[in-house]
Amino acid sequence: MEGIATARALMTNGTICTVQLLKAPTDDDKAFCRLCALGTIGKDSTKVPDEKWLHDICKARHSPIRELRFAFKLVDVPYFVSTHLARHIHAQPYIQSQRNDRQSKYDRRKAPQDAPVTMIWTMNAEELMTVCNKRLCMKADTDTRACVNAIRMVSLTQAPYLADLLVPMCVYLGNKCPEMHGCGRWERKNEEVETKEEQNGPDI
Ligand SMILES: [Zn+2]
Repeated sequence: MEGIATARALMTNGTICTVQLLKAPTDDDKAFCRLCALGTIGKDSTKVPDEKWLHDICKARHSPIRELRFAFKLVDVPYFVSTHLARHIHAQPYIQSQRNDRQSKYDRRKAPQDAPVTMIWTMNAEELMTVCNKRLCMKADTDTRACVNAIRMVSLTQAPYLADLLVPMCVYLGNKCPEMHGCGRWERKNEEVETKEEQNGPDI
């Protein structure tokens, strides 16, 4: 199956993980999402919602956004990355088996952690935001972050209304990293701002 959009992520071992967008919400899916939302207040609708409505309901994380479904194919994703991704329990992973009775390229008992596998991963818009919140943070594994960034890029080609929502949690929360030992992204930014202010003097 050809992807709707493709992005590549460079892994730290020098290999490339290719991410294909297999499915994104269609107009019918978006209209159904709106129908579910209006149904909760006793109304009916067949209208396809506009980008602003889609953005606003995704930002609010209301349950009808679970009808907005995405599917990705990750080609040559390191096996250890697939195990990180598979921990997102509201997404569905279909990871290529390494079982010795399913493939003959290598002995899985001796396979390195970064052995490439192919993975199809499906999820709704709510989970896609959660995945990006967690895995785009600088505390996430470097290779996992690169793969999820590729997922973000292909998603935005079809769902631009998610642009400011597929972000690390530290950005989502407005400059505060919630990790137990924060990633430091904003501390560094603030330091840069302070240095600039010291150099230029305060704005009056
Ligand atoms: Zn962070």
